[in-house]
Amino acid sequence: MKIYDVIIIGAGPAGLTAAIYCGRAKLSTKLIEQSQPGGQVNLTEEVENFPGVFKTSSKNLIDIILKQVNDLDKVEMEEFKEVSDIKYDNNNFEVRGQSLDGKDFSSKSKALIIASGAQPKKLGLKGEEDFTGKGVSYCAVCDAPFFKDKDVVLIGGGDTAIDEALYLAKFARKVKVIHRRDALRASGILQERIKSNPQIELILDSVAVEILGKKTVEKIRVRNVKTNKETEVDCNGVFIFVGYSPNTKFLEGLLELNEEKYIITNEEMATAKKGIFACGDCRKRPFRQIVTACAEGAIAAHSAEQYLSQNNV
Ligand code: NAP
Repeated sequence: MKIYDVIIIGAGPAGLTAAIYCGRAKLSTKLIEQSQPGGQVNLTEEVENFPGVFKTSSKNLIDIILKQVNDLDKVEMEEFKEVSDIKYDNNNFEVRGQSLDGKDFSSKSKALIIASGAQPKKLGLKGEEDFTGKGVSYCAVCDAPFFKDKDVVLIGGGDTAIDEALYLAKFARKVKVIHRRDALRASGILQERIKSNPQIELILDSVAVEILGKKTVEKIRVRNVKTNKETEVDCNGVFIFVGYSPNTKFLEGLLELNEEKYIITNEEMATAKKGIFACGDCRKRPFRQIVTACAEGAIAAHSAEQYLSQNNV
């Protein structure tokens, strides 16, 4: 079996950038992605804060980065392969898992870069699981067109929630944003936009209690945290954006994770396990942006290159 210099797990912005830097360093590199490249960027419509690229569709941004990856002869990419475990033996890492058709796969490398990203958190509300796909959604870009001229509720007050509320307002008749505090967490520019959009209404100091309906979502029960008063809000859809959980289950027992299961690294993106580096949203970090994920991908690739040359592996 071929032994690559580096295997990168995850082809979001962090993993793709790591691949560009590994490829340019002439390291033989395999990039393994569980679905299609792009990661969470695929869940958003537009990107307007990536330096050097003026307001573009997320698809266009990923296509450009992919072109840069595909231009490098030392990088191979495999999609729709989910990694389930990693073994360390004879100075090599063996990455194992299953492809979409259920077939097992295995690849070996001298160093590893984990860029496995994160996925939207669930709230655990009564009715949330039952109505998922029947009105409950975690992706406005995927599902907003189903709610044309309908009323939707959105839960969350961060950048993702407000970005998605603005997107949903292009389709829905009314978007009611439920947030648990009296102030949004989202950046000022997004707050200005939401407040000037007449289709969007804020329901502050409130939490969702239960999602109700017969076959599909019909209403949501909401509790005001200051008065404890409960009300029912009619809606056809409930969009939930309350943060993310890292995709690190396959690393339990191999790497040090924090209490929220994010990977702990130093500034060079090195984990405590020699030869394993991590970057992007699977890593414990204070600020989660496409640009910071890309920067970390570049640093992880540089650190992996140094590890390979210094350790002569
Ligand atoms: P986030 O910043 O962690 O915000 C999560 C939101 O959900 C917060 O408003 C939080 O309320 C709320 N929340 C969490 N748990 C909850 C619960 N159990 N019940 C009710 N509400 C709950 O997550 P995010 O918005 O997904 O953003 C993640 C990162 O990506 C951030 O660093 C963000 O800046 C970045 N991002 C940036 C952009 C952009 O630049 N355009 C776009 C998307 C994401 P509290 O505020 O009360 O904690």
